[in-house]
Amino acid sequence: MFWQKNQCRFAVSRTNSLLFARFIEFGYPAFMTEPTLFHKIVSGEIPCDKVYETDEVLGFKDIHPKAPTHILFIAKKEEHFVPSIMDITDETHHVTCMLIRAAREFASKQGIEGYKLSFNCGAKGGQEVFYLHLHFMSQESL
Ligand code: AMP
Repeated sequence: MFWQKNQCRFAVSRTNSLLFARFIEFGYPAFMTEPTLFHKIVSGEIPCDKVYETDEVLGFKDIHPKAPTHILFIAKKEEHFVPSIMDITDETHHVTCMLIRAAREFASKQGIEGYKLSFNCGAKGGQEVFYLHLHFMSQESL
């Protein structure tokens, strides 16, 4: 069993090794097998207050805003799904840029001149929903 585990570990590509090693050690975590809240928002199963949308990114108001404008940006496509910043690989690192560019475009279109962007990373970093999302907060109102 120990030997098999290590065989698997060395067989995976470098970029996915951390994620796969985690699966080998602990099994698939719940957030990888069950749709998260944000999967349900993307599919329309749960409604959201949408303020921005492209083919790839959705922006909607945070239900418990911590600033006059508090928006969450998420990637829509399944191939761009990443649970957390800690799970980003060489294949998915561009997803963070997609979200930041969407936030910048949103601010520009809304005439918002100052804002804060943040990712909560992992449960100990305050992350509650394990579907990568960018918090956009501004003291300016929409
Ligand atoms: P995080 O703590 O970084 O995982 O952020 C998750 C965010 O999702 C929190 O700020 C919540 O207020 C927000 N949230 C939870 N449920 C909803 C919902 N149904 N619609 C919009 N935002 C939500």
